[in-house]
Amino acid sequence: MNCPCGAPDNQLVQYFRTGEIDFRLCKSCGCVFRKQFPGPEELDEIYRQAYEEENISGETTNQESGDYAVRSFAGYLTTQVVNPADRILDYGAGSGSLVAELCHRGFACDGFEFAQSAREYCLANRGYSLKAELKTVPDGYYQVVTMIEVIEHLTDLTSTLQEIHRILAPGGKLFVTTPSRTGFRARIEKGNWREARKKFHLFLFDRPSMSFHLKRAGFTGVEHIVFSPFQKQGWKFVIYARMMQAIGLSGTLCVLASKQ
Ligand SMILES: [Zn+2]
Repeated sequence: MNCPCGAPDNQLVQYFRTGEIDFRLCKSCGCVFRKQFPGPEELDEIYRQAYEEENISGETTNQESGDYAVRSFAGYLTTQVVNPADRILDYGAGSGSLVAELCHRGFACDGFEFAQSAREYCLANRGYSLKAELKTVPDGYYQVVTMIEVIEHLTDLTSTLQEIHRILAPGGKLFVTTPSRTGFRARIEKGNWREARKKFHLFLFDRPSMSFHLKRAGFTGVEHIVFSPFQKQGWKFVIYARMMQAIGLSGTLCVLASKQ
C-alpha cells in the first residue's frame, strides 16, 4: 500500500511497536494507514456479519452508534450545521438510524451505504431506501454531507472525498467524525487500542492528516470542532467527554469542511 498522498515508500515508517503492527505512518502527510488492506471479499464478509439483523437489533455491533449517540448527532447537526431547506446525505449510513432521525425531525435526508445487508435492513425496518452508488447524483445536489465514523473505513480515500466534493453545492459542508489517534485511549493503549484492532479500520487520523486529505480533495475552510457525542446517558459520561475535550485528548476527531 502506498500512501494516498502519493509519497514514495521511503516516507513510510512503522507506526505501532506493539499490538497492531500493520499500520504505517507517512512522514510526508502524517497519515497512518494499514500496510495491508483486507481484500474486497474479506471486507464484504466483515460488513455482512456486522449488519446481521440480530447484531443491529441487539446493539451488539461495534459498527454503529447507539440510539443515544444518534440523537446527540442529530441535535448538533440540526442546530449548528444544517438549515431547514438543506438537502442532506449521510454517507456510510449503516442501517439508516441517522437518516431516519433527521427525516423524523423534518429534514430532507438521504443515505448512501456500501453494505447490501445494511441497506436491506434499513428498507425492511425503517422504510428508507439507501443509495448504493452516487454516480447518478447531479453535481452540487446536497448542501450537507455527513460522514460519521466512516472515513477510517474508506478503501479509496481520495476518490471518495472528491466524489463527495462533487455532489456538494458551492458553500456546502462536509461533517466528519472519526476516532482520534491522539486521544487519551489511543495514547495509552497504542497498538492495542480498540479502534486500531478493528480490521476494517484502514486509516487512523490526527488533526493535521485529516485537514491535509480534505484539502487535497478540494475542500477549504477545514474547521476542527470540539464536539463528541455522548455514547450513553449519564453525568459521568458527560464529565469524562468534556474533560477530554478540554485537555485535547478526546477520542473523537470532529471536522466541518466546506466547499467554496
Ligand atoms: Zn502521505
